[in-house]
Amino acid sequence: MQITILAGGIGGAKFLRGVRAACPGDGLTAVVNTGDDVTLHGLRICPDLDSIMYTLGDGADDERGWGRKDESWRIKEELSTYGAEPSWFGLGDLDIATHLVRTRMLDAGYSLTDVTAALCERWRPGVRLLPMSDERCETHVVVDLDGARRAIHFQEWWIRHHAALPAQAFVQVGVDDALPAAGVLSAIGAADVVLLAPSNPVVSIGTILGVPGIRDAILATPAPVVGLSPIIGGAPVRGMADACLPAIGVEVSAEGVGCHYGSRKNGGLLDGWLIHHTDSAAVPGVTVREVALLMTDDAATAAMVRAALELAR
Ligand code: GDP
Ligand code: CA
Repeated sequence: MQITILAGGIGGAKFLRGVRAACPGDGLTAVVNTGDDVTLHGLRICPDLDSIMYTLGDGADDERGWGRKDESWRIKEELSTYGAEPSWFGLGDLDIATHLVRTRMLDAGYSLTDVTAALCERWRPGVRLLPMSDERCETHVVVDLDGARRAIHFQEWWIRHHAALPAQAFVQVGVDDALPAAGVLSAIGAADVVLLAPSNPVVSIGTILGVPGIRDAILATPAPVVGLSPIIGGAPVRGMADACLPAIGVEVSAEGVGCHYGSRKNGGLLDGWLIHHTDSAAVPGVTVREVALLMTDDAATAAMVRAALELAR
């Protein structure tokens, strides 16, 4: 069976561990958000791809939630001694090696898809990882700052300002000229099931869907499409997704996100929507099922995946 999953970083990574555990013999492809990507200190950084690659490759720091385990920070300290900005972005020594390899390959003309495949030769994630696009297409957040309305990079909003500045809008800079990366449309069109991971609906799943062609491919695929709610009891389990949904006028609830994704019967994305068993949601045209949706360990996440596949059937 071919399973294609749309995924963001940390939530996506945990979910994909569950997919891999639940479906060991199947062809797994993840289409990953690259809207968070940024160039800092001359290094090309792909936070969501790296979160997934490290997590599936058993190299992630699970406690911190991002970056490498057994990390050290000597380069970051040196940079701050030079006063080199930005100082608010965490760049670990081991992580920097990944960014050096990536940046060098990109500079030599390889696509991000090729670079990701090369990095994955080391990490062996067991899931084919595809960036949503090979083009730069970076999320910016429109905020009021220092008396003016301006658009700042998503990372500056998320990490430097802890998503505490009210977001007026999200803008994907470069999206008009972006194409889906090689393999993305066929992975959706040839899938037996498409899953929307319980990732941030705005700045992870929403960003992937913003790349011209990807939403249409999901609308057109003969495969069933099932989503899993990232919102439980009116709150994101972890992270700051509740700072993103109001900016696009979506209620922070399983029902709000389900209705935002909408039914494939009327131009939306979903055939099925899984919500946590303590929630309820009415999503017109979509089969809603209630199961445990807490990704506490791989076994619990694998059970979520099996429930999604059952709903797809
Ligand atoms: P990011 O790119 O690192 O922000 O990660 P994602 O976008 O892939 O996932 C973040 C989302 O995962 C958050 O908005 C949470 O709502 C969701 N999330 C985190 N842990 C859980 C969990 O245990 N269960 C569910 N259902 N959602 C979760
Ligand atoms: Ca992310």
